[in-house]
Amino acid sequence: MASDCIFCKIVNKEIPSAFVYENETLVVFKDISPKAPVHLLIVPRKHIRSINDLTAADQPIVSELIFTAQRMAREMAIDTTGYNLLFNVEKGGGQEVFHLHLHLTGGYGTK
Ligand code: AMP
Repeated sequence: MASDCIFCKIVNKEIPSAFVYENETLVVFKDISPKAPVHLLIVPRKHIRSINDLTAADQPIVSELIFTAQRMAREMAIDTTGYNLLFNVEKGGGQEVFHLHLHLTGGYGTK
């Protein structure tokens, strides 16, 4: 855990947050400033700064992030209408919170 990391604090329940889903690897909660009708953050419990910092040992975490996104999309009923999955990487890539997280956005319908 990184002591000054807001997502570590959320993961460790030092900051209250309603988890949409959690398991031994990760937690899922709503983005505080949603950019879409559905905007979830899928966050590993382990503090990893960004995609750049992943190692081969983190492969099960990456896999779990993707399969949880699939599951959450299904549960939020946006799987068939469609959705986006996004990792922002470092400042130039739009990353603001330096604890790895996968954005799941959708819910606009098919238009
Ligand atoms: P990124 O720009 O990829 O680092 O995304 C960070 C996201 O975290 C942004 O979409 C923020 O709105 C969101 N965020 C920041 N603080 C919180 C919080 N306390 N609870 C939920 N979402 C947050």
